[in-house]
Amino acid sequence: TAALSISDLHKCYDNGFEALKGISLDVQQGDFFAVLGPNGAGKSTTIGVICSLVKKTSGKVSVFGTDIDDNFSLAKQNIGVVPQEFNFNQFEKVFDIVKTQAGYFGLPSKLAEERTEKYLKQLGLWDKRHQRSRMLSGGMKRRLMIARALVHEPRLLILDEPTAGVDIELRRSMWQFLRDINAQGTTIILTTHYLEEAESLCRNVAIIDRGQIIQNTTIKALLKQL
Ligand code: ADP
Ligand code: ADP
Repeated sequence: TAALSISDLHKCYDNGFEALKGISLDVQQGDFFAVLGPNGAGKSTTIGVICSLVKKTSGKVSVFGTDIDDNFSLAKQNIGVVPQEFNFNQFEKVFDIVKTQAGYFGLPSKLAEERTEKYLKQLGLWDKRHQRSRMLSGGMKRRLMIARALVHEPRLLILDEPTAGVDIELRRSMWQFLRDINAQGTTIILTTHYLEEAESLCRNVAIIDRGQIIQNTTIKALLKQL
């Protein structure tokens, strides 16, 4: 089974705008996959549908063989999402943000605390655990979103433009972190509009433009064309 399988996905927003015009895509287990495309292409909409934040108009999405329409709560256990915008409670403390997320996934309190410690340490945020999230720098907030997305140890991690607005030093350390997570078996999909980011990290790539997939190939083959 594919980690993610999308078939003929359409999204028409309430204002009549057709953001996705029949997207089909398979991402194999263990892959590091890039969804590349300009602003407005439909990348965030696609991610929104996968994690059920955006209601699709038609089409099928399954995650490790589970159709999200049949059993979203099962599919959700396998997905961790790092959205583009910071969306945590600004007054909640770093430790609590991650632990609360673990609770949403049904982890018992002790395990939730162990996992919170593990991921805050891995992302270099353990010293900040007592701080309120609004006190963190932009780069720290982004790493906090990654820790929160990993705390239930999903098999598929999806990141929406993870390094947009991130300085070069942090970008490199985030890249290395993601490579390590992938090497340990987590399938990763990221959206980006930087070819360089896709080139540095990913094996396979889909290029999306105006709601359609215009190429689905390996990074190597894509680079040869340029
Ligand atoms: P990307 O992530 O590739 O930048 P998006 O998926 O965010 O693209 O957006 C795709 C298109 O859908 C854009 O033209 C955007 O303006 C439009 N769009 C996004 N959200 C809405 C919405 N809620 N209502 C209407 N149009 C939207
Ligand atoms: P700013 O947003 O002010 O640039 P950051 O939060 O981005 O600050 O980064 C602070 C420091 O933490 C940087 O020097 C960065 O290299 C380092 N850093 C980034 N990611 C990690 C990580 N995974 N583990 C440990 N340190 C990290």
